[in-house]
Amino acid sequence: MKLIILGAPGSGKGTSATVLREEYNLAHISTGDIFRANIKGNTPLGIEAKSYIDKGLLVPDSLTISMVEDRLSQDDCKAGYILDGFPRTIAQAEALDEMLAKQNTKIDAVLSIVVDDEEIKNRVAGRRVCEKCGASYNVVFKPTKVEGVCDLCGGVVYQREDDKPETVEARLKTYYKNTQPLIDFYNKKGIIVEGDNNKNPEVCIEQIKEGLKAKGLV
Ligand code: AMP
Repeated sequence: MKLIILGAPGSGKGTSATVLREEYNLAHISTGDIFRANIKGNTPLGIEAKSYIDKGLLVPDSLTISMVEDRLSQDDCKAGYILDGFPRTIAQAEALDEMLAKQNTKIDAVLSIVVDDEEIKNRVAGRRVCEKCGASYNVVFKPTKVEGVCDLCGGVVYQREDDKPETVEARLKTYYKNTQPLIDFYNKKGIIVEGDNNKNPEVCIEQIKEGLKAKGLV
Protein backbone atom coordinates (compact mmCIF):
# COMPACT_ATOMS: atom_id res chain seq x y z
CA MET A 1 0.00 0.00 0.00
CA LYS A 2 1.31 3.43 -0.95
CA LEU A 3 0.04 6.32 1.14
CA ILE A 4 0.55 10.06 1.46
CA ILE A 5 -0.22 11.85 4.71
CA LEU A 6 -1.16 15.52 4.37
CA GLY A 7 -1.73 18.11 7.06
CA ALA A 8 -0.61 21.51 8.31
CA PRO A 9 2.58 21.75 10.39
CA GLY A 10 1.71 20.54 13.89
CA SER A 11 -1.43 18.68 12.77
CA GLY A 12 0.04 15.44 14.08
CA LYS A 13 0.80 13.87 10.71
CA GLY A 14 4.19 12.60 11.86
CA THR A 15 2.68 10.92 14.92
CA SER A 16 -0.16 9.38 12.88
CA ALA A 17 2.33 8.19 10.24
CA THR A 18 4.38 6.46 12.94
CA VAL A 19 1.32 4.54 14.19
CA LEU A 20 0.18 3.61 10.69
CA ARG A 21 3.62 2.46 9.53
CA GLU A 22 3.68 -0.06 12.40
CA GLU A 23 0.10 -1.14 11.78
CA TYR A 24 0.56 -1.78 8.06
CA ASN A 25 4.31 -2.47 7.95
CA LEU A 26 5.19 0.46 5.71
CA ALA A 27 8.40 2.39 5.15
CA HIS A 28 7.97 5.87 6.66
CA ILE A 29 9.45 8.56 4.46
CA SER A 30 9.50 11.97 6.11
CA THR A 31 11.15 14.60 3.91
CA GLY A 32 11.48 16.90 6.95
CA ASP A 33 13.42 14.14 8.79
CA ILE A 34 15.66 13.54 5.75
CA PHE A 35 16.44 17.27 5.55
CA ARG A 36 17.13 17.44 9.29
CA ALA A 37 19.50 14.44 9.07
CA ASN A 38 21.34 16.20 6.22
CA ILE A 39 21.53 19.43 8.23
CA LYS A 40 22.95 17.53 11.19
CA GLY A 41 25.48 15.81 8.93
CA ASN A 42 26.41 19.14 7.32
CA THR A 43 25.98 17.70 3.81
CA PRO A 44 25.72 20.04 0.77
CA LEU A 45 21.97 19.24 0.59
CA GLY A 46 21.60 20.02 4.31
CA ILE A 47 23.43 23.34 4.02
CA GLU A 48 21.25 24.44 1.11
CA ALA A 49 17.98 23.17 2.65
CA LYS A 50 18.67 24.89 5.98
CA SER A 51 18.54 28.36 4.43
CA TYR A 52 14.91 27.74 3.40
CA ILE A 53 13.77 25.69 6.39
CA ASP A 54 14.93 28.30 8.91
CA LYS A 55 12.72 30.88 7.18
CA GLY A 56 9.66 28.63 7.09
CA LEU A 57 9.94 28.34 3.31
CA LEU A 58 9.83 25.25 1.15
CA VAL A 59 13.06 23.73 -0.11
CA PRO A 60 13.01 24.09 -3.94
CA ASP A 61 11.20 21.34 -5.87
CA SER A 62 14.32 20.46 -7.88
CA LEU A 63 16.21 19.39 -4.73
CA THR A 64 13.25 17.79 -3.00
CA ILE A 65 11.93 15.73 -5.91
CA SER A 66 15.28 14.09 -6.73
CA MET A 67 15.84 13.34 -3.05
CA VAL A 68 12.46 11.55 -2.85
CA GLU A 69 13.00 9.71 -6.14
CA ASP A 70 16.25 8.37 -4.77
CA ARG A 71 14.59 7.35 -1.47
CA LEU A 72 11.69 5.58 -3.20
CA SER A 73 14.12 3.45 -5.20
CA GLN A 74 15.46 1.84 -2.01
CA ASP A 75 14.55 -1.75 -1.15
CA ASP A 76 12.45 -1.05 1.95
CA CYS A 77 9.92 0.84 -0.20
CA LYS A 78 9.01 -2.21 -2.27
CA ALA A 79 6.43 -3.48 0.23
CA GLY A 80 4.73 -0.07 0.52
CA TYR A 81 5.30 3.26 2.18
CA ILE A 82 3.79 6.30 3.79
CA LEU A 83 5.01 9.66 2.48
CA ASP A 84 5.00 12.24 5.27
CA GLY A 85 5.64 15.86 4.19
CA PHE A 86 5.79 15.09 0.48
CA PRO A 87 4.33 16.22 -1.86
CA ARG A 88 3.94 19.80 -0.66
CA THR A 89 3.33 21.49 -4.01
CA ILE A 90 1.30 20.64 -7.11
CA ALA A 91 4.58 20.36 -9.06
CA GLN A 92 5.83 17.77 -6.55
CA ALA A 93 2.53 15.86 -6.79
CA GLU A 94 2.77 15.78 -10.59
CA ALA A 95 6.40 14.67 -10.42
CA LEU A 96 5.39 11.89 -8.01
CA ASP A 97 2.64 10.72 -10.40
CA GLU A 98 5.22 10.55 -13.20
CA MET A 99 7.75 8.67 -11.05
CA LEU A 100 5.12 6.10 -10.09
CA ALA A 101 3.68 5.77 -13.59
CA LYS A 102 7.17 4.75 -14.77
CA GLN A 103 6.99 1.91 -12.24
CA ASN A 104 3.42 1.07 -13.28
CA THR A 105 2.03 1.96 -9.91
CA LYS A 106 0.18 4.76 -8.12
CA ILE A 107 -0.72 6.20 -4.72
CA ASP A 108 -3.59 4.23 -3.12
CA ALA A 109 -4.83 6.85 -0.67
CA VAL A 110 -4.07 10.32 0.66
CA LEU A 111 -4.70 10.73 4.39
CA SER A 112 -5.81 14.25 5.17
CA ILE A 113 -5.32 15.22 8.82
CA VAL A 114 -7.63 18.04 9.84
CA VAL A 115 -6.95 20.39 12.79
CA ASP A 116 -8.20 23.95 13.46
CA ASP A 117 -5.67 26.80 13.08
CA GLU A 118 -5.69 27.98 16.72
CA GLU A 119 -5.13 24.45 17.95
CA ILE A 120 -2.21 24.08 15.54
CA LYS A 121 -0.45 27.19 16.86
CA ASN A 122 -0.80 25.92 20.46
CA ARG A 123 0.52 22.51 19.56
CA VAL A 124 3.51 23.72 17.57
CA ALA A 125 4.54 26.17 20.31
CA GLY A 126 4.69 23.29 22.80
CA ARG A 127 6.20 20.67 20.50
CA ARG A 128 9.56 19.14 21.45
CA VAL A 129 11.35 16.38 19.56
CA CYS A 130 14.06 13.88 20.40
CA GLU A 131 17.34 14.64 18.69
CA LYS A 132 18.21 10.95 18.53
CA CYS A 133 15.05 8.94 17.66
CA GLY A 134 12.71 11.72 16.45
CA ALA A 135 9.95 10.93 19.02
CA SER A 136 7.58 13.86 19.39
CA TYR A 137 6.39 15.39 22.70
CA ASN A 138 4.44 18.44 23.85
CA VAL A 139 5.22 20.40 27.01
CA VAL A 140 1.48 20.68 27.78
CA PHE A 141 -0.26 17.64 26.24
CA LYS A 142 2.48 15.01 26.25
CA PRO A 143 5.47 15.98 28.41
CA THR A 144 8.52 13.75 28.82
CA LYS A 145 8.80 12.01 32.20
CA VAL A 146 12.11 13.79 32.85
CA GLU A 147 12.36 17.30 31.44
CA GLY A 148 14.47 17.42 28.28
CA VAL A 149 15.06 13.66 28.14
CA CYS A 150 13.36 11.28 25.67
CA ASP A 151 11.20 8.61 27.40
CA LEU A 152 12.01 6.11 24.65
CA CYS A 153 15.76 6.37 24.08
CA GLY A 154 17.16 8.84 26.64
CA GLY A 155 18.15 11.29 23.86
CA VAL A 156 18.06 15.07 24.24
CA VAL A 157 14.60 16.58 23.62
CA TYR A 158 14.67 20.04 22.01
CA GLN A 159 12.51 22.63 20.25
CA ARG A 160 12.97 22.66 16.49
CA GLU A 161 14.31 26.01 15.26
CA ASP A 162 11.38 26.22 12.80
CA ASP A 163 8.83 25.60 15.61
CA LYS A 164 9.61 29.01 17.14
CA PRO A 165 6.58 31.36 16.86
CA GLU A 166 8.10 33.72 14.26
CA THR A 167 8.71 30.80 11.86
CA VAL A 168 5.43 29.00 12.55
CA GLU A 169 3.38 31.87 11.04
CA ALA A 170 5.49 31.67 7.87
CA ARG A 171 5.14 27.89 7.71
CA LEU A 172 1.36 28.11 8.04
CA LYS A 173 1.23 30.70 5.24
CA THR A 174 3.40 28.44 3.08
CA TYR A 175 1.10 25.53 3.86
CA TYR A 176 -2.10 27.34 2.85
CA LYS A 177 -0.56 28.77 -0.30
CA ASN A 178 1.33 25.74 -1.63
CA THR A 179 0.13 22.58 0.06
CA GLN A 180 -3.58 22.95 0.74
CA PRO A 181 -4.38 22.99 -3.02
CA LEU A 182 -3.23 19.36 -3.00
CA ILE A 183 -6.42 18.38 -1.18
CA ASP A 184 -8.36 19.43 -4.26
CA PHE A 185 -5.83 17.74 -6.55
CA TYR A 186 -6.31 14.39 -4.77
CA ASN A 187 -10.04 14.86 -4.17
CA LYS A 188 -10.49 14.88 -7.94
CA LYS A 189 -8.80 11.48 -8.02
CA GLY A 190 -11.21 10.26 -5.30
CA ILE A 191 -8.44 8.96 -3.04
CA ILE A 192 -8.73 11.21 0.05
CA VAL A 193 -9.32 9.62 3.48
CA GLU A 194 -9.95 12.16 6.22
CA GLY A 195 -8.97 12.01 9.91
CA ASP A 196 -10.10 14.67 12.40
CA ASN A 197 -7.24 15.24 14.82
CA ASN A 198 -8.72 18.15 16.80
CA LYS A 199 -9.31 16.11 19.92
CA ASN A 200 -7.78 12.74 20.19
CA PRO A 201 -5.13 11.04 18.02
CA GLU A 202 -6.71 7.61 18.64
CA VAL A 203 -10.01 8.82 17.14
CA CYS A 204 -8.16 10.24 14.15
CA ILE A 205 -6.31 6.95 13.53
CA GLU A 206 -9.56 4.98 13.84
CA GLN A 207 -11.24 7.22 11.25
CA ILE A 208 -8.32 6.67 8.89
CA LYS A 209 -8.36 2.91 9.35
CA GLU A 210 -12.13 2.87 8.68
CA GLY A 211 -11.60 5.01 5.57
CA LEU A 212 -8.92 2.63 4.27
CA LYS A 213 -11.23 -0.32 4.94
CA ALA A 214 -14.08 1.40 3.07
CA LYS A 215 -11.76 1.72 0.08
CA GLY A 216 -10.91 -1.97 0.29
CA LEU A 217 -7.23 -1.23 0.95
CA VAL A 218 -6.92 -3.05 4.30
P1 AMP B 1 8.33 18.96 8.36
O1 AMP B 1 9.18 18.22 9.33
O2 AMP B 1 7.56 18.06 7.43
O3 AMP B 1 7.45 20.00 9.02
O4 AMP B 1 9.35 19.78 7.39
C1 AMP B 1 10.21 20.78 7.91
C2 AMP B 1 10.62 21.71 6.80
O5 AMP B 1 11.36 20.99 5.79
C3 AMP B 1 9.48 22.38 6.04
O6 AMP B 1 8.98 23.53 6.72
C4 AMP B 1 10.16 22.74 4.73
O7 AMP B 1 10.99 23.88 4.86
C5 AMP B 1 11.07 21.53 4.50
N1 AMP B 1 10.36 20.49 3.72
C6 AMP B 1 9.94 19.27 4.16
N2 AMP B 1 9.34 18.59 3.17
C7 AMP B 1 9.37 19.40 2.07
C8 AMP B 1 8.89 19.27 0.74
N3 AMP B 1 8.21 18.20 0.33
N4 AMP B 1 9.13 20.31 -0.11
C9 AMP B 1 9.80 21.40 0.28
N5 AMP B 1 10.26 21.59 1.52
C10 AMP B 1 10.05 20.60 2.43
